[in-house]
Amino acid sequence: MTELVALKRNGGRQGADLPTAPANGAARAAAGTVYIETYGCQMNIGDSELMAGVLAKGGYVRVADPDLADVILVNTCAIREHAEQRVLGRLGQLQRYRKRRPDLVLGVTGCMAQRIGDRLLGEVRGVDLVAGPDAYRHLAETVDGIRLGAVEKGQALLELDVAEDYSGLSCVRGEGVSAWVTVQRGCDHRCTFCIVPYVRGPEKNRAPSEVLAEVGEAVRCGYSEVTLLGQTVNSYASEDWDFAALLRAVARVPGLRRVRFTSPHPNDVSERLLEVMAEEGAVCPQLHLPVQSGADRVLKRMVRRYTRREFQATVDMARRIVPGIALSTDIIVGFPGETEPDFEATLSLLEDVRFDDAYLYKFSPRDGTPATRLPSGDDVPPDVAQSRLERTIELQRGIQLEVNRAEVGSVREVLIERGARSAGDLLGRTVTNKVVAFRGPAEWIGSYLRIRLTATSGATFAGEVV
Ligand code: SF4
Repeated sequence: MTELVALKRNGGRQGADLPTAPANGAARAAAGTVYIETYGCQMNIGDSELMAGVLAKGGYVRVADPDLADVILVNTCAIREHAEQRVLGRLGQLQRYRKRRPDLVLGVTGCMAQRIGDRLLGEVRGVDLVAGPDAYRHLAETVDGIRLGAVEKGQALLELDVAEDYSGLSCVRGEGVSAWVTVQRGCDHRCTFCIVPYVRGPEKNRAPSEVLAEVGEAVRCGYSEVTLLGQTVNSYASEDWDFAALLRAVARVPGLRRVRFTSPHPNDVSERLLEVMAEEGAVCPQLHLPVQSGADRVLKRMVRRYTRREFQATVDMARRIVPGIALSTDIIVGFPGETEPDFEATLSLLEDVRFDDAYLYKFSPRDGTPATRLPSGDDVPPDVAQSRLERTIELQRGIQLEVNRAEVGSVREVLIERGARSAGDLLGRTVTNKVVAFRGPAEWIGSYLRIRLTATSGATFAGEVV
């Protein structure tokens, strides 16, 4: 899991089979119009695109403005309390569209729906439908049924289905120059802080032929970069394929220039996988390795199934086999029972490894996870957890600044992704996933350019076209 940011992926480039709606809403004719708002990780972006595909097949037109929508779906994240609170606030705001359009259907999908869907239906005004991550295949029929009055409002589609891997369905991609391709759903681990196995069920892997067909289709639609997604993507196993074999085959899809993957589990980073990364020119030399803590005591309580020493051996192996590889991580501070020496072990791990990037969080207890059953006396006081988070951020910022300063002056190939906030600036990404801002016209979006890195803020770079 990573990048727990709220993302709206609406209103951008539309897939080939999705009709676009005129801005005046005149296309509200076929089955209807749908607005999808996405919160959470990259898996949820992929799921929103899957839902858009299912609904497009049912005749729904995706719109960028909730005011033009007959159906609003909020695709949610449950990984942290804060993420759920944001969605609850947003559901309140969305009620104003119902005032203007009483027949609006408002649905909540994703991990929060799976976790507390029944409560949402009972306690949040105006929610007509909740659907968990395994219930998207028949979404169009259910939405149609509610709109036509054939089924009652308050539908709960919350069955976890170990056989549902959404084979045979097409997604409709949102805006952007990079395509998300889900290769695995669910998780077989039971990290004690994590809600994912309870809301997404056990690991399910798509057939390699399906994955390769989807990548090929994305390339035909103009995408030159794909990111393979899975909760522990590198534990992928289907037929006699492991993740290394899948990655190599994807990297060789004609026309594909870059492939990334997220999020791997450190235990499944094999020599074979790293060799594929080193050998296949299309595989980006970038690896997200969520460590969570630098203290063995805490790692054991988290049931991460590796020690600090084993994790560091994986880091060393990655750097040996893939020279120049960029590494990022996730850290949770304030896990129950984390002592000051445990926390300092996490700081020292950051100093030892010197990650290129890190996603830093305070522990957020989730009902139903084993961590909530640890003795209450183990809880780290909120002010201590906050202070540890701030110290971690400060340390990592300094490390990242030093790591990135060493790259200033170099020339990198950048895929230009979008315009920046400041007029005339563009944003792109290097193969190592570093964000670069530079001057240029919007027509360059989607192309590759050689950019000299001229300065860094620590988090991002400024650059100029060479
Ligand atoms: S590996 Fe652990 S942290 Fe990652 S999704 Fe599975 S249970 Fe959650």
